[in-house]
Amino acid sequence: MKKKILVTRSSMPDMQEYMEEIKELWETHWITNMGVKHKELQKQLTEYLSVENVDLLTNGHMALELTLQALKLSGEVITTPFTFASTTHAIVRNGLTPVFCDIDPVDFTMDVTKLEALITDRTCAIVPVHVYGNVCNIEEIERIAHKYDLRVVYDAAHTFGETYKGKGIGSFGDASCFSFHATKVFNTIEGGAVCYKDKELGERLYNLKNFGIRGPEMVESVGANAKMNEFSAAMGLCNLRHVDEEIAKRKHVVEQYRKRLDDVEGLQLNPIQENVKSNYAYFPVIFDEKVFGYTRNEVADKLAEHGVFSRKYFYPLTNTFDCFHGKFDVNETPVALHVSKRVLTLPLYADLSLEDVDRICDLIVDME
Ligand SMILES: *Cc1c(COP(=O)(O)O)cnc(C)c1O
Repeated sequence: MKKKILVTRSSMPDMQEYMEEIKELWETHWITNMGVKHKELQKQLTEYLSVENVDLLTNGHMALELTLQALKLSGEVITTPFTFASTTHAIVRNGLTPVFCDIDPVDFTMDVTKLEALITDRTCAIVPVHVYGNVCNIEEIERIAHKYDLRVVYDAAHTFGETYKGKGIGSFGDASCFSFHATKVFNTIEGGAVCYKDKELGERLYNLKNFGIRGPEMVESVGANAKMNEFSAAMGLCNLRHVDEEIAKRKHVVEQYRKRLDDVEGLQLNPIQENVKSNYAYFPVIFDEKVFGYTRNEVADKLAEHGVFSRKYFYPLTNTFDCFHGKFDVNETPVALHVSKRVLTLPLYADLSLEDVDRICDLIVDME
């Protein structure tokens, strides 16, 4: 068998570059609790993401969970089930009730035409997901949120470095939460960030990531521990130097996939959105069995037989998880259900060679 191709491969700097970056930590022995690397990465990310404020956390999940806590919400939160477990879990773990809105069949983000009908007098917030790096219908979400006085927290885990109409994607809503997990476009090994505007929200979030400790003798809230450590922040500083180059390489991979798969009948590719500077985070393909002749599962199996590992991302929908058994009706999100049964994300990372992309596409094009 030819060499394996995994669905993703973490970006890493040269070992020497990382060694240089962490060297001074042996001088100070200050390795966590908002040290110099944490402060420097925070500063650089505020600029890179072109947002007002950034706070750094241990991971994207805690970014979501603690942002919702910092907003002091209660009641129902409208979100989508076509996402990673984290989005829904962050809502439920805050004692909030998720209400699932269906997704758009073209870009897979929240279908805003179905949003308003889900609002009740218990609705407190909207948590939309910029899924695969596809930007939600921001204008419509902001309009509706304003009309009903709802908070908006974007799950921006997939949109590192993107802009919408020239503005940093993290500058919309009350807050946007990023993930810097090893598998994401930009990583700090594990890590995450919250971009926000309101300074008071920022202060509450900062306290919550450090046990709710306000001062040496004052514990103000029931916080968690979600501080990014210095080794992660140092990894971020290194990776940030190369991220533009990484995104440019991803772009070539995506363009090759498009070239090879655009005209194949029965395949729906991710849309190219207007006004969005993309980061080429994922390459999802929807397989319409009736036209293409093969199911998503058959394609995934065939690829795996040849050492190519794709991912059923996102399947299953979060509103069908075992841990929520009996709580939600998946038939209320029929488009999400349809897409989740047919979608496959193909291998995509900066160093994936165009020959490997061709090999993957050959396997798909000649299924028999
Ligand atoms: C990765 C991801 C998260 C969680 O981020 P972690 O850093 O892994 O905790 C949340 N939402 C979405 C959509 C993600 O893809």
